[in-house]
Amino acid sequence: MTEKIRVKNPIVEMDGDEMTRIMWRLIKEKLIYPYLDVDLRYYDLGVRHRDETDDRVTVEAAHAIREFGIGVKCATITPNEARVREYGLKQQWKSPNGTIRSILDGTVFRKPIIIKNIPPAVHKWKKPIIIGRHAYGDIYKNSEFVVEQPGAAEIVFTPAGGGEKTVLKIHDFDGRGVVMGMHNTEASVRSFAQACLNFAISERYDLWFGTKDTISKQYHGFFRDIFAEEVEKAGDSLRQAGIRYRYLLIDDAVAQVIKSDGGMLWACMNYDGDVMSDMVATGFGSLGLMTSVLVSPDGKFEFEAAHGTVVRHYYEHLKGNPTSTNSIASIFAWTGALAKRGELDDTPEVAGFALKLESTVIDTVESGIMTRDLMLIAEPPVTKYALTEEFIAAVAGRLERAI
Ligand code: NAP
Ligand code: MG
Repeated sequence: MTEKIRVKNPIVEMDGDEMTRIMWRLIKEKLIYPYLDVDLRYYDLGVRHRDETDDRVTVEAAHAIREFGIGVKCATITPNEARVREYGLKQQWKSPNGTIRSILDGTVFRKPIIIKNIPPAVHKWKKPIIIGRHAYGDIYKNSEFVVEQPGAAEIVFTPAGGGEKTVLKIHDFDGRGVVMGMHNTEASVRSFAQACLNFAISERYDLWFGTKDTISKQYHGFFRDIFAEEVEKAGDSLRQAGIRYRYLLIDDAVAQVIKSDGGMLWACMNYDGDVMSDMVATGFGSLGLMTSVLVSPDGKFEFEAAHGTVVRHYYEHLKGNPTSTNSIASIFAWTGALAKRGELDDTPEVAGFALKLESTVIDTVESGIMTRDLMLIAEPPVTKYALTEEFIAAVAGRLERAI
């Protein structure tokens, strides 16, 4: 065996739950440790340990990402009532991803992995479509109520320092109806635009942004104008990276994305991103092929798979039944983190290893070895699927020969 590649600076590793926790250990054991001498700062975000530490471990992990710049995270349970009972938790702890996102003030980008024999539902899509979702405000932080009687609904703004109120009529109701108020902030929209520009430049993808500013001249127009200002400021870096900014009406953006061959970063307002990321993920095939990266405006990165802990498979595993769970998005969380670490540390051998591992995974699937979720959609069809451990072992075997 050749000497291990040294990774110059630490990577923050966050362990997780259920089936993904089982795959996580296998990935480290078979694909990472044998090749890399890496200082992993380990945080166990498994739900039991979060419970024991009153969720302090999540906050500590997020601060470690701020310190070291790069994190890699396994999927974790966001407890609901049923999970509190299942694991005997003290309370319904908040979503770890939400906690980390708010500490890093980050934007989440989702990027599919393209494999030749796993054709997307949209045949023209040849390159990834990355979705960047603004994750603050709009209907996700609204106030709304059902109007039960005739009356006037108004928006009122009261200046903090005193002075005249602004009052705007929404509607004069003459019967039952419904009203909603929502907001966003310049700081949040600006940092979203900056995160999208940074990520587009780092990935060398054209940046698209769509709103409905023909109808919502102020609200959606506000987003459009802030994006335009940030694009103007980033002008030189955009030109150097050879990428273009394209502003469209949201309905036109939807149509153009479907007609395109992919290869763009699609920045979406909060609701559009929620809806469109599910459309794009399904369009590309399997949740097991969707990666996710959280990017902060000051250039910190956290990589993970977009899927959850694959709980149905885990229950089968607990019963002693074999599973065929796709580990590709989790492996690509590691390669994403390593490639970025290599880039920031100026250690091309580390980035090179990440690329080699990625191409080994893709070659393995293209040679016909894949988990069941991919077998169901592979073209040309395959008749046999690999079990969870078998797929990782197949990748490990090929990697050993490739290195
Ligand atoms: P999930 O883990 O994403 O799985 C939903 C279904 O999608 C699975 O049952 C499976 O379908 C398929 N699937 C997802 N990933 C797959 C993979 N790698 N290989 C093969 N099939 C895959 O969502 P969930 O079961 O609704 O959620 C489970 C837990 O994950 C929840 O506690 C939730 O809080 C958590 N979660 C965490 C994150 C995160 O940490 N980022 C994100 C989402 C959810 P079949 O059953 O048809 O095989
Ligand atoms: Mg959604």
